Formats: sequence, structure tokens, C-alpha cells
Amino acid sequence: MTFSNMSVDPIASGPLARRPSRGVVVRHGAHAVTIGGDAPVVVQSMTNTDTADAIGTAIQVKELARAGSEIVRITVNTPEAAAAVPAIREQLDRMGVDVPLVGDFHYNGHLLLRDYPECAQALSKYRINPGNVGKGAKRDSQFAQMIETAIRYDKPVRIGVNWGSLDQALLARIMDENAARAQPWSAQAVMYEALITSAIENAQRAEEIGLAREKIVLSCKVSGVQDLIAVYRELGKRCDYALHLGLTEAGMGSKGIVASTAALSVLLQEGIGDTIRISLTPEPGGDRTKEVVVGQEILQTMGLRKFTPMVIACPGCGRTTSTVFQELADDIQTFLREQMPTWKQEYPGVEAMNVAVMGCIVNGPGESKHANIGISLPGTGESPAAPVFVDGEKVATLRGERIVDEFKTIVLDYVQKNYGREATVS
Ligand code: SF4
Repeated sequence: MTFSNMSVDPIASGPLARRPSRGVVVRHGAHAVTIGGDAPVVVQSMTNTDTADAIGTAIQVKELARAGSEIVRITVNTPEAAAAVPAIREQLDRMGVDVPLVGDFHYNGHLLLRDYPECAQALSKYRINPGNVGKGAKRDSQFAQMIETAIRYDKPVRIGVNWGSLDQALLARIMDENAARAQPWSAQAVMYEALITSAIENAQRAEEIGLAREKIVLSCKVSGVQDLIAVYRELGKRCDYALHLGLTEAGMGSKGIVASTAALSVLLQEGIGDTIRISLTPEPGGDRTKEVVVGQEILQTMGLRKFTPMVIACPGCGRTTSTVFQELADDIQTFLREQMPTWKQEYPGVEAMNVAVMGCIVNGPGESKHANIGISLPGTGESPAAPVFVDGEKVATLRGERIVDEFKTIVLDYVQKNYGREATVS
């Protein structure tokens, strides 16, 4: 049998169905973002400013939101930080930034939420780390205090377990249970079990206190790729809470990006994960918005969401002697991303556009024809001309110094004609 006479597509493609989960609505005023349920996977991020610096934090939140972060988390670690939260929210509202803010609480969250009710109100969601809520008898009452505050202010909560701050009492209990087994599990399996148990038991406890299931998001973050995959596969099977996915302490540069992508793409392909955060360590002086771009690119290159037009570019090889096509690819990708905050409003659907920037005649014209717009720059020994293709047809040949600007004009013209409101109406 050949492909041509088979009645169904012989090659399965695309992610598995999303794991069913309760949708959790995270709200700021009239603006709502849903995590889980039927909603697309949400990209979120976290600031690294001192939250007590309300203006600095508001500016970074605005940058993250402008880059496409749909929810932004800020640390709330001191009375000064808690006191600044309402001012951050007001500043964002004044700047027209309606992104929901999540407060990240450790150790003293029960006190800060009690002592700063305006902070509790201004936040759209609370993150509680059950390993950092308190010890012994205090632990349960302090956890309950935070959940009761969430109920009072009608806020959702992420119960965010992290293996760097795992509840030690719970770990000891799981280890004791393991020791009593006829065939004890490995230390790694015990650790996985402790993470998952901590998340689920604390979620159940929050429900017993009165928090609705539709107000709870879970996460179990670890820093190893295979560990994360194993933990979330199991966590996903054991509950229907919405899941926040992320590789904690992913690291810097390409290592952080590759490790996060490797872990998240396996899980997302299996339908696991309702919101993602990429925990990149920025280079000194680096741009915090990189974590948003990486999160979006993971989802977009997997075909799960569309955020910004994508540039397809060849890697270059010995057939190219100049860096023109690398510069053009970089220039165009930056140009497209910078336009998106405006284009999103003016040109709906433009995020699905593909642009090809190719280095020579070998794959250049072919790849360019597959894209909405493509340019094939001249390789070594080729005549110094760059054919441009629009929807598969050659429409121009560019030459000389102004190739980049002329190509951008063609891109802009294509966007206006094909995605403008008039274009969508006609
Ligand atoms: S398109 Fe040309 S320049 Fe680019 S990688 Fe292929 S052969 Fe090399």
C-alpha cells in the first residue's frame, strides 16, 4: 500500500489532545486570562526588580507585558514590597497596562497578606510555596491564613512546589513510607513522589478550607529535564488542576533555552501544561523580556499558538561570503517583533505570516515560495540580485545598497494589504 491510496493520513502529526483541566480565570478589572480548560497555553514571566521600587517594577512589568507576557509575577518578600504593590498596580493602570499581577510569597506571606490588605486586593493571583509556609504546627495555620485571604478577595492561587524548597516534614514521611515497602523505590522516585504529593495534598487542603477547585493552579518545578518530564507526566495523571509548567533554574544563554525547550516541548506535545514560564538567568545587563520571547517561540514553533510573524532563515554556508543575509534576517525578525504591539491591533492575523530570508539560489527561491514573503540573496558567484517572492510569485528583484529597506517596504505593504481591517472585510 502506498500513501496515495490510504484512506487516512498515514503520518500522525501534531500534539496529543490537551489533558483535561479546570480553567482558572486570572483577572484584573475587566481583563481576564484563563489558565487551563479550553484556553490556549498562557505565557507568563517574572520581574527581577526590587518590588519596593514601585516605578522600576512597573516599568519592567510594562516591558514584559509589551513583549507578550500575559501574566507577570512579582516577588512580595518584605513589608516595603507589599506596601508598593498597590502603587505598582496604579502606575500600570495609568500606563494602560492591564496585565494581571501575581504575588510570589515565601515565609512571611501570611503576615504580608494580613497586614497589607491593599496588596492582597491589588494582586490578581497568589503563588504559595508549600515548602516555605512555616514549620510544625504553624505551617497549617499559616497556609490556611493565606488560603482564607485568597477566598476573601476572590483570588486564584498557584500552589508552587519546588524541589529546592520541598517540605522537609513531608519528604521525611514519604521516605518512611518507602522504607516500609517490601521493595523500596529509588531515591529519585521518592523525590518525585514527595513533589507530587506536596502539590496535590496542599491543593486538597486548600479545597477543604473552601477555595474552589477552579481557583487552583499547581506546579512542581525541578531543574533537570528528565525529572521535569517524569514529574509532570505523573502529576498530570493524578489530578485535573490546571498546571503551570517550567524548568526551574534553567540557567543562562543557550543552555537555559535548550533545557527549557527540551523539557517543555515533550510535555506540551503530550498535552500537559496550561501556562509556561521560562526561568532564564539574564546575561549581566541582559534583557528580561528574553524569557517571554523564548516562551512564545516554543509555543509558536510547535504550532500551538501564534504571536509574531516568524522568519525562516538558512544557516548560511560556504556559498555565502557576506553577512548580508544574516543581518537582513536579524533585522527583519527584530522589525517584525517591534511592530507587533501595534500590528496586533491594526492587522489581526498578521502573527501567522511567514517571512523567508535565504542565503543563495540552492534553497532560496524554493523556501521563499513557501513563505508569504521571501527573499533569496545572492551567494558567492551569483549575479548580485535578490529575487523577492510574494505568495509564491516572483514580484521584484532587489539590487544595491538599499535591499534591506526596500524589502521592509514590501513586507509592510503586504501586511497592510493582507491583514488590514479593510482587507479582512473585503
Ligand atoms: S540556502 Fe544556500 S547559503 Fe543558505 S545554507 Fe543553503 S546552500 Fe548555504
